[in-house]
Amino acid sequence: MKEIAKQIEARFLELGVKVQTSEIETQLDQLINKFKVPPEEARRNVVNLLLVKHNIPKANYFAAHDTMQVKTSDIKEDGNWVTVRGKIVQLWEANQESIAQVGLFGDESGTIKFTKWAKAGLPSVEEGKCYIFKNVVTSEWQGKFSVMLNKTSEIIPITEDIAVSSTPTEFIGAIVDIQGGSGLIKRCPECNRALVKGACGEHGKVEGLYDLRVKAVMDDGEKVQDILLNREITEALTGITLEKAKEMATEALDQVVVLDMIKSKLVGRYYVVSGAKLDRFLLVESIKPDVKPMDEDMKKILAASAAPIAQEA
Ligand SMILES: [Zn+2]
Repeated sequence: MKEIAKQIEARFLELGVKVQTSEIETQLDQLINKFKVPPEEARRNVVNLLLVKHNIPKANYFAAHDTMQVKTSDIKEDGNWVTVRGKIVQLWEANQESIAQVGLFGDESGTIKFTKWAKAGLPSVEEGKCYIFKNVVTSEWQGKFSVMLNKTSEIIPITEDIAVSSTPTEFIGAIVDIQGGSGLIKRCPECNRALVKGACGEHGKVEGLYDLRVKAVMDDGEKVQDILLNREITEALTGITLEKAKEMATEALDQVVVLDMIKSKLVGRYYVVSGAKLDRFLLVESIKPDVKPMDEDMKKILAASAAPIAQEA
C-alpha cells in the first residue's frame, strides 16, 4: 500500500501537484482494508478522486502509460509521451550533473538525441546495444527533436539487432582550428565523461581510460562546421594510434605533444567529411583529403582565422 501511495504521489508531482502521502494512504486504507476493494481498483479510485479534486484531465495522468511506439523520424512534436525501439549509436559526455547519460539513439527511420536524467534512476545503456525506451517524453529545441528518459520511463534491453538508418551530411572545407579536449584524453570508466585534471565531474578522482579524439572547426568560406572524430577515424587520418599517442606522451611527459602533432597534420588542410549531424557537431564517419587546389577564397579564410577578427568601422 505504501508503494502504491508513493507511485501516485510521484506521478502527481510530475504533473506539478503536491499530494500528501498521508492523504493517499488514508484513502487507500479505507478502500482496501475497510471495503475490501482489490488494490489495483483502489488505486484507480484514489487517482480518479485526486484528478477531479485537482482539476487534472485523466489523459494527462495516464499519458505516461502504454504510450504508442513510434519511429524516431515520426517525432515532430514537443511534449508527447512515446515509446521508441532502437540502438544506442553513440554515447556522449554528459556535461551536467543532472544528466546521467546522453547520446544518439537510432532506428530504421533515422536517429534522435536522447537524454537520461540522473533523477530517473534508470539502468545504464551501452553503445551498440538495442533497447526499447518506454514512456519517454519528446522535446524540441531550436527545431531539433530529442527524447527524455525520466522516472516514469523504462529501459528494456532487446537482443535483436536493429539496423540504424542515417542520412549523412557532407561538408567540404578547410580545418581551421583544433579545439581543446582533443588528442590524448582520459575518460571516466563509469560514465565515459572526459576527465578534467584526472577527475570526473560526477565520480571524482578515477582511474581514467585513455582515448583519442579530435574536435575541430571547418570553414568552407561561407560557414563553419564543428566536427568530431572518434578514435578510429583519428587514428586512420593522423597515423597516430592510441598506443603511439601514449608513448609520445610518456616520452615528453606531457600529452600536449599529441595535440600539437595533430594540429600540425590537420590545420590548414582541405577535407571532404561526411557523417550524421547532431546539434552543432558533424559526427564524422568518413574524411578524405579534398583534391581541389587552394583557391583565393580559401587563402583568405585561413588568413582571417589566423588573425584577430577585424572590427568593422
Ligand atoms: Zn564519471
